[in-house]
Amino acid sequence: MEFSRRMKKISIIIPAHNEEKNIPLVYAELQDVFAKYAKEKYVFDILFINDGSADDTIGAMEKLANLDENVEYIDFSRNFGKEVATTAGLNNCKGDACIMLDADLQHPVELIPEFIAAWEKGAEVVVGIRNKNKSTGILKKIGSAIFYKTINKIAEVEIVPNSTDYRLLDRIVIEQFNRFTETNRMTRALIDWLGFRRDFINFDAKERIHGDASYNFWKLFKLAMNSFISLSLLPLKLAGNLGIAITLISGVAGFYILLGKYFFRTPFASTFSDSENLAILLLFLVGIILMSIGLLALYIANIHGEVINRPMYVVRKKKL
Ligand code: UDP
Ligand code: MG
Repeated sequence: MEFSRRMKKISIIIPAHNEEKNIPLVYAELQDVFAKYAKEKYVFDILFINDGSADDTIGAMEKLANLDENVEYIDFSRNFGKEVATTAGLNNCKGDACIMLDADLQHPVELIPEFIAAWEKGAEVVVGIRNKNKSTGILKKIGSAIFYKTINKIAEVEIVPNSTDYRLLDRIVIEQFNRFTETNRMTRALIDWLGFRRDFINFDAKERIHGDASYNFWKLFKLAMNSFISLSLLPLKLAGNLGIAITLISGVAGFYILLGKYFFRTPFASTFSDSENLAILLLFLVGIILMSIGLLALYIANIHGEVINRPMYVVRKKKL
């Protein structure tokens, strides 16, 4: 008998937004996985985060929590988004490691043993890599391809394509993650930023069983935009450089036209009338200025969001 051997605790973190029907299903599937480890060296707990669902997701969570002492939940006062919900899970989980997965069963729980095995072999972060998803729309696919190409060109951290939020984090990574204070966040980018020893596990994303994906193209676009401006200053520099280039070119062109008008007979200089020249020039410059201002506004909005330092999320009730 090994009384002294401490069981390792693994927390399963599940953010949920309108997943009333999926909560009992994901719970049941997890029990099957846990059963395989019965009397082995792990104990599991499940931490659900209800991210301002409009349906009775919280009811489903409470029901399970009443039946099973290893089920915990945090109930947000409203929808704060998956990134923040996951963060709340990481802030509050107690395990020696945690595994984050989606409530909609798109992250196959059968792979949990593989995540744990990789962890036991020394990986501090184990990242799930999605192979493909038949139901993914063409717009989302193209969007994601462009996103990874661009962000890896401009960001300081390498972001592995198709890496998902289905991840295992060691306690040391969780502790470091909990030091981040920014509210506008993309959890997986922050985890990548932290570094640590990583390992990868490939999986096929399943179809969603109940409910609709809450992330449509525009929500994802917003998320991508957020990671661009929080991970890189290049867009800001781009606007500046573009401004300089345009000013130089239009300056030279203007000078050429002036020369043609008052000093020599240069070709083409008199093809357009003065007002046409001016109109084209103005339109062009106004476009550039607006673009630059738009980009600046994004950064200012970002700075604003961080500086006012609001709490990241608000909890109605919890069982931890
Ligand atoms: N989710 C959340 N808050 C939100 C949107 C989604 O907690 O505002 C949860 C959702 O319940 C699911 C996971 O995040 O467990 C992934 O969401 P979804 O299936 O909508 O995204 P996708 O599968 O398209 O990445
Ligand atoms: Mg999903």
